[in-house]
Amino acid sequence: MKILFQQTQFLLGAAQASQFPEDIGFEVAFAGRSNAGKSSAINVLTQQKSLARTSKTPGRTQQINFFVIDNDRRLVDLPGYGFAKVSKREQAHWGQLLEQYLQSRESLRGLVLLMDSRHPLKDTDRMLIDWCIASELPCHLLLTKSDKLNNQERSKALNTVKQAVQSNFVTLQFFSALKKTGLDALEQQLTDWLQ
Ligand code: GDP
Repeated sequence: MKILFQQTQFLLGAAQASQFPEDIGFEVAFAGRSNAGKSSAINVLTQQKSLARTSKTPGRTQQINFFVIDNDRRLVDLPGYGFAKVSKREQAHWGQLLEQYLQSRESLRGLVLLMDSRHPLKDTDRMLIDWCIASELPCHLLLTKSDKLNNQERSKALNTVKQAVQSNFVTLQFFSALKKTGLDALEQQLTDWLQ
C-alpha cells in the first residue's frame, strides 16, 4: 500500500506526556540536533513548505509535535537538541520529555535520526542510537545535506558511521532536502515501518 505522506497534517504539540495523543496505530519519530535539517526533511517528505515550522516557533521548541498522516499513522517531530543557549532547566525538561516518549510509546515503530553528513555522531546522537539498540527499536540514520559533500567525502562519512555503528537495528542513508536525493529510500523505510 502506498502511504500518502503529502496528506500529513499537524495534530498537536505536547509539552508533557499527559498531552500525547492516544497511543494507538503506528508512529515514526524524527530526532536530531538543531540545524541537522529535520524540518527541511519533513517538509520535503510531506511536500509541504512549512509543515514542520510550528516546531520552530519560540516557546514551542521544547514540545513534541505530532502530525497525522491518516487514521492509523502519525509522524512525530521530537524537539531538536544541541542548542548553544539552552539552560540546564530546559535541557533537563528536554531529556525528561524525550525519555517519557521513547520509553512508553507502544505505537512507535522506528526512529529516524538526522545528522549533518559533515558532523555525524555527536554525543546525543550516539546516546539515542545506543538507546535504540538497547531497546531493540529500529533506527534509521539520515545523513543530511549530502549535496554539500563530494563523492570522496561521502564515502568517508559512510565508512565512519558504518564502523562506529554496527547493529541490525540500525540502517543508514544519505539525504538532501535541497536536491531531494534519498527521498525514495526514506519513503520506503517509513512505509515498511508504518504498514
Ligand atoms: P532543523 O533545525 O533540524 O529543523 O534544520 P532545518 O531544516 O531548519 O535546516 C537547517 C539549515 O540547513 C537551514 O538553513 C536549511 O536551509 C539547511 N538545509 C537543510 N537541509 C539541507 C540540504 O539538504 N542541503 C543543504 N545544502 N542545506 C540544507
